[in-house]
Amino acid sequence: MSPRPDKHRPETLAESTQAVHAGNEVGPDGGPIRTPIVMANSYALPDDPSEISWSGTDIPLYTRNSGVNQLGLERKLAALEHGEAAVALGSGVAALHAAFFTLLKSGDHVVVADTTYEATYRLFTELLPDKYNIQATLVDASDLQTVQAALRPTTRLVHLEAIANPTTKVTDVGAVARIAHEAGALVSVDSTFSPPPLIRPLELGADLVVHSLTKYINGHGDAMGGAVIGRQELIHRIKGDAMVDIGGVISPFNAWLIMRGSVTLPLRWRQQSASAARLAEFLEADDRVAFVAYPGLASHPQHDLAARQFSGGFGAMMAFAVRGDSETQNRFVANLRLITSAVSLGHDESLIVHVGTDGPRVAYYPEAFRTLGHLRFSVGLEDAGDLIADLDAALDATF
Ligand SMILES: *Cc1c(COP(=O)(O)O)cnc(C)c1O
Repeated sequence: MSPRPDKHRPETLAESTQAVHAGNEVGPDGGPIRTPIVMANSYALPDDPSEISWSGTDIPLYTRNSGVNQLGLERKLAALEHGEAAVALGSGVAALHAAFFTLLKSGDHVVVADTTYEATYRLFTELLPDKYNIQATLVDASDLQTVQAALRPTTRLVHLEAIANPTTKVTDVGAVARIAHEAGALVSVDSTFSPPPLIRPLELGADLVVHSLTKYINGHGDAMGGAVIGRQELIHRIKGDAMVDIGGVISPFNAWLIMRGSVTLPLRWRQQSASAARLAEFLEADDRVAFVAYPGLASHPQHDLAARQFSGGFGAMMAFAVRGDSETQNRFVANLRLITSAVSLGHDESLIVHVGTDGPRVAYYPEAFRTLGHLRFSVGLEDAGDLIADLDAALDATF
């Protein structure tokens, strides 16, 4: 018999039920049925506080250690990623830094996917080597032999993105985890482009999952946050070292907004993935479009892996370019009337950003990205027909 559903035991619930109930504190009779925003930075101490650990993170004490809204959000994120525990922080980058800062020390070696979020690239190619003597080898993480060959006795961590920002390169998380674990290294996966249910890296063997909550999990473009999810023992260390002693906490208000936004994650995700698949096909079929990178297209280099590894679609992020130079890409974007030109992604509204060919990261991108630049496109919740009409009209106006 399957376990009786109980909103206080999120592990008994299906994902859309978890997204509604997990982490929400229901008050006593007559109290609020949603956790209120607690805008206090401190919590009342017991008469005898001598037993309290001032750097502890288990009970509400001070908002840099814990807090009502933060704890609720952490419980929900752990439930959604099928992890033991989570730490919520002020941004996705704060979460990445918290994981790296806690797990690594001077002299350690890291294997990092060559295509990652910009701040990850800078952390591993400049800041962590220069300041802390942490050495990184950048690898094509979709090539397992290259990952294997890069591992050293001092390798402590392998870090990758399940779907890489911005090229949408897909990595076999389970295979990389097996290779890394054999060499005694931990695996962290930035899953910002691939929130649950698409993939749950912890179930495939990863040790930590990192999210920019700013993106799909909040989903409404009105708050920033980040999180790391994993085993209790690792999260406890990250909380102690990086949250309490470095800072970077999430505000109660942002934690509350993200709790509310994440209620509709499964619904939004299904709709956005379905629209993205239609839009990618539309763009690929148009002669004025030079290329489309989307894991759901048969032309994507890791399409078969994506089909095996992901469930419920292929996500809602793609990159493409129209035929022409950088000025043509800009003209196309300027001709859009519905899709908004802005950074960030995973919002309710569709967002597009033209990224040129400058900068050291571009050397690792596929050739078409290196020569034409690309348009990073986050498909939103608007009607897919309206979005196609906007793209089509902008193409007509550009060519
Ligand atoms: C946006 C993003 C981040 C950083 O998140 P912030 O909330 O902006 O700090 C990290 N990783 C990926 C893949 C992202 O897209």
